[in-house]
Amino acid sequence: MKVLVVGSGGREHALAWSISRSPALTELHAAPGNPGIAALATCHPVGPEDVPALATELRADLVVVGPEGPLVAGLADELRARGIQAFGPSAAAARIEGSKAFAKEVMDAAGVPNARTLPVAQPPCVVKADGLAAGKGVWVCRTPVELAEALRAVAPPFHVEELLEGPELSLFAVVSGDGAIALPPARDYKRVGDGDTGPNTGGMGSFSPLPDVADEEAEEILETVHRPVLRELARRGAPFHGLLYAGLMRTEDGLRVIEFNCRFGDPETQSLLPRLDGDLLPLLAGGDGGVQVSSRAAVTVVLAGGAYPERGDTGTPIDGIEAAEAAGALVFHAGTALQDGRLVTNGGRVLNVVGTGGSVASARTAAYDAASCIHFAGMRYRGDIANG
Ligand code: AMP
Repeated sequence: MKVLVVGSGGREHALAWSISRSPALTELHAAPGNPGIAALATCHPVGPEDVPALATELRADLVVVGPEGPLVAGLADELRARGIQAFGPSAAAARIEGSKAFAKEVMDAAGVPNARTLPVAQPPCVVKADGLAAGKGVWVCRTPVELAEALRAVAPPFHVEELLEGPELSLFAVVSGDGAIALPPARDYKRVGDGDTGPNTGGMGSFSPLPDVADEEAEEILETVHRPVLRELARRGAPFHGLLYAGLMRTEDGLRVIEFNCRFGDPETQSLLPRLDGDLLPLLAGGDGGVQVSSRAAVTVVLAGGAYPERGDTGTPIDGIEAAEAAGALVFHAGTALQDGRLVTNGGRVLNVVGTGGSVASARTAAYDAASCIHFAGMRYRGDIANG
C-alpha cells in the first residue's frame, strides 16, 4: 500500500513512524513532511492545495491528513472525488471542529453532555471564538478583568459558556468503515509553564495511560460521547470518517465534552501510537482489525523555543538527538529544518521526546533522561509532565 501523510509536525512524524512499521506498506510519502519524517518517507515540498494532484500522480492508495485546516477546507472531499482514499472527514463533518456553534448544536441534538451556553457574559465563564483558532480562541475568565480582556480580544462570532472544573482527558476514536474504535485515554498539557501556568500553547506534553481513567473505560466513553455524535452527523448527511477526538472534563456532575477535533491530537498522538501493538495502517485504511493496546506507558515532553508561545525560533542549531535515541527514546520532529546540512529549529514546538516503560513513572524518567541529552540555545520544556 502506497501512503501519503499530509502535514509537517510531531503528530505527522509519529503517524509516519507508526505507518512505516506496517507490513502492508510499500511506499511512504509526505507533504511537506519534515527532516525527521524524511528518514522514513519521501518528502514533497507542497502545500495542502497541491496534495490532490500529488496523490493522483503518486497513485497513492491512502492519504492520511494530519492537520484540521485542510480538512475543514475540503481536502478529503477533493481526494475522494478523485477516487483516492482519505483518512479524514469531509468538510461537512469537519465542522464538528471548524465551528463551535455547530459542535454544540450536534451535541445537544445527540444528548451528549457539554458546557451550558450562558445568555450573558459574566465571570466565571469561558469565551470561545467560533472558528478554527489553533488553540488560541478560548479564554477562561474567572474575574471581571479576565472577562474584559477576553471580550476585547475575541473576534466575533463567539459564544460564552459555563466554566467547568475537573481533570481533562482526550479520547480518540478511529472511525472507518462502519465502526469506531477507541484509542486509550490520554492527557495533554496546554499551558506553557509548570503547574499549568502561563499562556495556552499547542501542547507542551502528554501521557498515557492515566492514573484516574483506566484504558478499559474508553469503550464506555465512546458509547456515550462519540457514537451518539457520529449517529447525529450521519443523520444530518455528514457521516464522519477519520479521527474523532473528544476533549473531555471529568466534573463533579460527570463527564462533559469541552470540544471535538476532527483529527489526531498533537501531542497526544505521540504518546498513544507507541502504546499500540499491531498494525495501524489497516485500521486507517478502513479495513478490519482492531488496535491492541499494550500495557506500556508513554510520556511525551515537548522541547520548545525560548520565546514560545509568543513566537517561534528559526535557525538555531540542534544537538544531541542521536544520544537521546540511543538512550531509548523516540524523538519526533515538530519544528525543525535543515540548513546547509545542519539540523536547526524552525518553529515554536521543535521536538517531541517520547519515553516508554512499564509504568508512567519509568516512561517519564526515560523521557526526561533523553530530553536532557538534547540541546539548542533557548530550549525550554515543562518539568512536570505526567507528574501525577
Ligand atoms: P478548547 O480549544 O475548546 O480545547 O479549549 C482549550 C482549553 O480551554 C481546554 O483544554 C480547557 O482547559 C479550557 N476550556 C475550554 N472550555 C472550557 C470550559 N467550558 N470550562 C473550563 N475550561 C474550559
